[in-house]
Order: sequence, then structure tokens, then C-alpha cells
Amino acid sequence: MKKLKLFLVPIAAVVLIACGGQEKEKEQENIMTQVEGVEVQTQAQDPINADTIDVGTVNKTEEEWREILSPEAYHILREAGTERAFQNAYYDNEEEGIYYCGACGLPLYSSNTKFHSGTGWPSFYAPIDPKLVKRKLDTRFDMERTEVVCAQCGSHLGHIFPYEGVPTGERHCLNSLALDFKPKDL
Ligand SMILES: [Zn+2]
Repeated sequence: MKKLKLFLVPIAAVVLIACGGQEKEKEQENIMTQVEGVEVQTQAQDPINADTIDVGTVNKTEEEWREILSPEAYHILREAGTERAFQNAYYDNEEEGIYYCGACGLPLYSSNTKFHSGTGWPSFYAPIDPKLVKRKLDTRFDMERTEVVCAQCGSHLGHIFPYEGVPTGERHCLNSLALDFKPKDL
């Protein structure tokens, strides 16, 4: 029995290492594809000039938010929920236009900085202007993550992660339900 145990341990370790290695390889491959797929359009003009956007303060009670938001949007925006990957409206949206805060309507992100991350959530490497969003430390689930919220109403949008291959080195991983997209020509 002792011998068997001794045998089992190294085998288990090898399997674990093999699994980890494979995963890493897959991850690497994903990142490479994503980097190649990144379309950087920093020269493109946004239909919205950030200098003209006034960031005020929108203070509503949770009761008021509940009245104007769908239950799903309320959960994301006001309870910092996360929608399902690949099952949301904008993760693969390639239309040109502006993404507004789904709660207060502040213009936040442009299709100019959106890129395919392969994660299943709409990903941007920057907002239209840094003043439009705020960063907060999120320590839920025993993790330290950077939460990104609307600067005007404080609603949860998603998280910011480091990301190689984009101009800012970071990916704003957002929930489609936290955003309202309006195509450029409308
Ligand atoms: Zn807002």
C-alpha cells in the first residue's frame, strides 16, 4: 500500500504540471491572436469631444435606480454584478459609435478603442477621456481587482486588467448591460 501511494503522488504531480502547461500554452496562443487582431485607431476622430463633456453628479436612491433600470441592468450597475461571457450584446460589436453609461447616459467609451480580447466581454483600452470613469479597489472574492465605475453616477461598469499589446497596456473589461451603444451616424 505504501508503494502504491508513493507511485500515485508523482503521477498526480505530472498530470497537474501537464495540465498547467497546456493551459498556459493555450493562454499564450490566445494573447498572440488577440494582439494581432487589435486594431488601433488612435487617429480617428470621435464624434464626441471630451472637452465639451461636463461630468456632473447624479445621485439617485437605489429605489429610484430600480425604477428606471431593468432588473438585469440594476444587478450589474448597482450591485456590481457580472454578466455571462459571450452572452451579451456588445462583446463582438464592431460598429462604430459611442458607448454611454447604461444608468446616467454619460458618454464613456468609443469604438475607436474597442478591441477583440477573446474574453467574451466588450473590451476597450481606454475611455474617451480619463475623467469619465473612476477606478476603485475591489477586494471581493478574495481578489484585488481594479473596478471601473461611471464618474458621474458611480455605477459599476466592469474591471480593468493589465493587457499587453494595446497602447495603454490595460483592458477595460466591461459589461454590455452597463452600457448603451449608439452607432456613429445616429
Ligand atoms: Zn453613469
